[in-house]
Amino acid sequence: MSSSQTKSRPKGGLFIVSAPSGAGKTSLCNRLVDFFPHLRHSVSFTTRAQRAGEEDGVDYFFITPESFKEMVEQGAFAEWAEVHGNRYGTAIETLEHWREQGCDVLLDIDIQGAAQLRKAYGEGVFIFILPPDLKELRKRLENRQTDDAEVIERRMKNARDEIRESVNYDYVVVNDDFDIALDALKSIVIAEGCRTARVLPGLTEVFDLDI
Ligand code: 5GP
Repeated sequence: MSSSQTKSRPKGGLFIVSAPSGAGKTSLCNRLVDFFPHLRHSVSFTTRAQRAGEEDGVDYFFITPESFKEMVEQGAFAEWAEVHGNRYGTAIETLEHWREQGCDVLLDIDIQGAAQLRKAYGEGVFIFILPPDLKELRKRLENRQTDDAEVIERRMKNARDEIRESVNYDYVVVNDDFDIALDALKSIVIAEGCRTARVLPGLTEVFDLDI
């Protein structure tokens, strides 16, 4: 290994987080990114309309269906999927931009996108967030007061299908108590950062290691 390689920072990793809607994923992911300076949120591209309070380029890149189609044709996405009638995608450029700088990247994406990444990248840490049970999930969806009864029923049906996918994830975090769930997520990020393969390549010169 050349000395320029040994001195370079290891490339950042991917943390892929999925959950049924209402499990608390967005709040947990926001707090996680705030906590770790080296962890960056991957801002997705979407065709869905911007909601009040959302910022273009911060929450999502809001683009037209035509632009989204062009990006698909150009092979710009690491993964993309249609969720609740809108399209969402993660740009390869977004991931590489942060990873090249040694930052880990957090992707808040649905189960279809996670399955694509698992296949295409063959790396990444896959985390599924569960509500404590379905009764509590329904309660949280109702308390949000953002969806009517029909939408809530649809989300509950989708939740059952999504939860079945959790068996394919590396970690499952139950969000019963928010702070405990957040601690569990922090622990995963810290432990993954201590993996031999992540740490030792940066220390070969310091300890004269031959790896
Ligand atoms: P929302 O419209 O409520 O922000 O997100 C709806 C769903 O789309 C969530 O489950 C979210 O995780 C998922 N999502 C957001 N960005 C992406 C993405 O880039 N790819 C995929 N596959 N799903 C995404």
